[in-house]
Amino acid sequence: MEQDPLKHILEYNLDLGKNKPDTVHRDESYCPFCDVANLKNVIETRGHMIWLENAFPVLKDSWQTLIIETDDCDGDFSTYSREYAVKLMQFGLEKWQQVKAMDTFKSVVFYRNHGYMSGGTIHHPHSQIVAFKEYDYHEDIKPYHFTGKPILLGDGIEINLSLRPIIGFYEVNLILTDSTKLSAFVNYMQITASYFMRCFVRFNDSYNIFFYDFPGDGALYVKIIPRFLTNPLFVGYMVPQITNSAHAQRFINRLRSALMIKGNPNQRP
Ligand SMILES: [Zn+2]
Repeated sequence: MEQDPLKHILEYNLDLGKNKPDTVHRDESYCPFCDVANLKNVIETRGHMIWLENAFPVLKDSWQTLIIETDDCDGDFSTYSREYAVKLMQFGLEKWQQVKAMDTFKSVVFYRNHGYMSGGTIHHPHSQIVAFKEYDYHEDIKPYHFTGKPILLGDGIEINLSLRPIIGFYEVNLILTDSTKLSAFVNYMQITASYFMRCFVRFNDSYNIFFYDFPGDGALYVKIIPRFLTNPLFVGYMVPQITNSAHAQRFINRLRSALMIKGNPNQRP
């Protein structure tokens, strides 16, 4: 089907957006996600995890929801206990699936931000589930975006360094083809996020996690991406870049050993 390029875009309401609370870039002490008693439009609660409608639905033709992940304002996915991270992922994947099953949206995205450069405005750990009425991300994101140099191949799990990244440089793809391996998979996600925060480049504390699926394919696709200023060749010409292979290989070796040491010892590299 021919894509209408003028429809393949999202409109963001900056007039509404400028009133959004911002505890990441501004010195605001009030955290709306700590003030649980005053949260509006809560859809479901499980322990300290809360699924609710976004109070600032800045995107046109979209249904924006959030998952508040914990009651710890300074928590992060990379430091949750493995057990908590798995429960959180189960909750998030379930809600993502639930919105997709509504069948009223063209596509539904599920992602989380962490850090100054990640695009988030609330420091308190949360993820987003956003349903688009007119936008199908599958028109732009293809299975080839998940091909890469192997970092770790396990039973039902593949982790690679993207050879065809969306924007560029270090995009780690994690692919789960056996849903019974979710616990090990989530552990690898945590180790990768932690690696980007603590071992990758000094002073980098920003990353995103994005979740994807493709029609007719039961696998879960995840990208974990450290965030920097976007390179101008992408901004101007949409050219993604990758690093020279020696640099990439050093990255692969280091992340692989972190995954092997801290991850499930039964996986083979
Ligand atoms: Zn908070």
